[in-house]
Amino acid sequence: MRLLPDNARVEADGSLSIAGCRVDDLAAQFGTPLFVYDEAHLRARCREAVSAFGVDRVIYASKAFLCTAMARLAHDEGLLIDVATGGELFVALNAGVPADRCVLHGNNKSMEELEMALDAGRDSQKRPGVRHIVVDSFDEIHRLDALRRDGHPLPRLQVRVTPGVEAHTHEYIATGQNDSKFGFNLANGDAARAIELIQRLGCGELVGVHCHIGSNVFAVDSFAKAADVMSRFAAPYDFPELTLGGGLGVAYTEDEEAPTIASWGNVLLDACRSIGIKSAVFVEPGRSIVASAAITVYRVGTVKEIPGVRRYVSVDGGMSDNPRPVLYGSGYEAFDVSNVAADRTESARIVGKHCESGDVLIFDADLPSGVKVGDLVATAVTGAYGHSMASNYNKVPRPAVVFATDGKARAVVRRETMDDLVRLDLP
Ligand SMILES: *Cc1c(COP(=O)(O)O)cnc(C)c1O
Repeated sequence: MRLLPDNARVEADGSLSIAGCRVDDLAAQFGTPLFVYDEAHLRARCREAVSAFGVDRVIYASKAFLCTAMARLAHDEGLLIDVATGGELFVALNAGVPADRCVLHGNNKSMEELEMALDAGRDSQKRPGVRHIVVDSFDEIHRLDALRRDGHPLPRLQVRVTPGVEAHTHEYIATGQNDSKFGFNLANGDAARAIELIQRLGCGELVGVHCHIGSNVFAVDSFAKAADVMSRFAAPYDFPELTLGGGLGVAYTEDEEAPTIASWGNVLLDACRSIGIKSAVFVEPGRSIVASAAITVYRVGTVKEIPGVRRYVSVDGGMSDNPRPVLYGSGYEAFDVSNVAADRTESARIVGKHCESGDVLIFDADLPSGVKVGDLVATAVTGAYGHSMASNYNKVPRPAVVFATDGKARAVVRRETMDDLVRLDLP
């Protein structure tokens, strides 16, 4: 239960409900696979972050999960929105988020993306453009300078620095080390050179520095270490702003334990105070806001027993709605929707329906005995980097996304149809 959304309950018949909605009913109404989010849980995590870090200090990293409803929810709750591409910026703006509530990231921003970020909100804001752009490369600085010469409005800029802090996480999602595609190296002097170049060219108003050491980080002291390194580096410049990234880990399995957003805030801001940081400190949580707010509901299609080897339970989704096990070897827990609290005494490998042996959701899942064809099984903590990383591999339509609140459920992303699968094809 600890891994399930805040408002998950076991009904009298043993079946799971989320925010007052029976999950078996939702599966019947919206089909499977299905992402079910507990909307109040999302809002509670946004509020926890704002109360831990302060108003206008929390930037939701939208790559974790983005759709119109999520952009609006995060904006409603007072979070800024971090976008890493023109596409993410488009979704946020199209949802009605003002440009000056968005922050643009990315290690390879195109001219078009930068232009979009500089000009957005031109008609509606005193100062056009996104709140700030996090500059990632010398090439980008030169692009910004070309745009300045073309007469685009001047952006506010933070400089992304790789502080050389190794976060203990999977190498694909560690970003603070010196050998990284992201940002300017602090140790070799690039970060200082980037600041000097921006100041010399005058291609933006430099307001601060930024780092993000990685994702799914459990050791809160890694963040404090990064704060220390960054503040020493930034001290001579006296910038008004400092962003310390996102990356707080979440528990995906029963044996994991993650710090809360509140305790992350306490440790990080305490560290900043004791270091003597005077700048406004921003953070960019993604996963910790959305991950445990959702479950994915699947229907079992086949069960295959290979005596002496293992049992395979195949569900109607897989690596197309959750590539994390394949990408990072991530672990998940699965349970029987109709009997949530059942003892899980049997082991099985839960696999998807894609044409790859690697299409695994859980390598060694514990399941109740007797899970059979037609049953609903769900995986917990799938609210981050699931739907946002979903693909159409094998032309499997992407699942619908449902927000449940107070006994009502609404689809916020509809299921893809067969027609959607050929929408872009030309004869
Ligand atoms: C991905 C990312 C985040 C969010 O990371 P989470 O692990 O989802 O909290 C924050 N900042 C930057 C720059 C990122 O790339």
